[in-house]
Amino acid sequence: MTPPPRHALVTGITGQDGTYLAKLLLEQGYRVTGVLATGRESSLWGLHYLGITDSVDLVRANLLDFTEVQELLLRTRPVEVYHLAAQSSVSSSFSEPAMTMRVNTQPVINFLEAIRTLDRSIKFYHASSSEMYGRVSTCPIDDRTLFNPVSPYAVSKVAAHHTVRVYRDSYSLFAVSGVLFNHESVLRKQGFFIRKLMDAALDVKRGKADRLSFGNIDVRRDIGYAPDYVRAMWLMLQQPTADDFIICTGRSVALRELVEHVLRRAGLTTEVIQIDPALYRPNEILDIYGDATTATRRLGWTSKYDAFETMDLIFDEAMALQAGKRTPSL
Ligand code: NDP
Repeated sequence: MTPPPRHALVTGITGQDGTYLAKLLLEQGYRVTGVLATGRESSLWGLHYLGITDSVDLVRANLLDFTEVQELLLRTRPVEVYHLAAQSSVSSSFSEPAMTMRVNTQPVINFLEAIRTLDRSIKFYHASSSEMYGRVSTCPIDDRTLFNPVSPYAVSKVAAHHTVRVYRDSYSLFAVSGVLFNHESVLRKQGFFIRKLMDAALDVKRGKADRLSFGNIDVRRDIGYAPDYVRAMWLMLQQPTADDFIICTGRSVALRELVEHVLRRAGLTTEVIQIDPALYRPNEILDIYGDATTATRRLGWTSKYDAFETMDLIFDEAMALQAGKRTPSL
């Protein structure tokens, strides 16, 4: 008799990473249940786009409520929980700091407490972020670098990150945080830099706009490709012991270089770039890149694409989408 498929619970399944992770887990033979947040009109567009809407189970839950999280685990009985749901925008965290803190920390505590009290064999993944390091004096960031957050978003992720470690150390839970540097795809939501860049470049190319307006594009980031990065999340939960890992390309590029690269691909000149100081963040990381040596050694993971290759992949896909060559499967 074939054993039943392993069951994974994915929060944030309507987000960029949740969608790609769900696809990967299905390919690995998992049964996947995605959690939609109560009271939110979450778009299923990404799931439709990847053609997996009918292959996942979708349930609703308020992850801020401990009892609901307990019931969710009792009802679905997962072997692995990937907790990706979050207020994920650094910029929005400056206008909504309290909500960001609550949404990004309380569900983590609820899951860990529920796992501790119900079933300690459940493996838990938390989506930490390179933003936690903030303004660092030296790069690359490695396992010894201290956190120095410079946004409410980063503070919330530091709190959640430490909570995961405390539960791992105190109760021997298989609870890990993946410290992922920026990763992008055509599924990036509106408001994020790469999405804005692609949309604006294509709009200018089509004559629907005449300018690309940005905040500070002289900052440097370590940027990879989202489908590649979700593989690292899964690998972390397949290890014999629980640990946190840094996931990155190992190199930073100025956002301006990426803008110029995409403009070239679109056949446009840099004259269309407009810098708007009103779009600057109150505080900003100037340059950051990481060292994924430990992930390479222990997970066998390395980033397959650098930032420019990532831009090419997204640009080609965005062009195909615009030309109607690739449409969501629904
Ligand atoms: P997205 O913003 O694309 O997705 C976020 C998910 O969280 C969506 O499913 C969204 O639901 C849900 N969500 C948002 N706000 C709330 C809320 N108030 N209550 C409940 N659910 C909510 O993020 P990514 O997929 O890019 O990122 C996944 C995780 O990884 C996040 O935790 C993010 O902070 C973290 N991360 C991401 C990085 C990146 O470069 N992408 C880098 C490092 C960390 P809805 O569809 O309803 O909006």
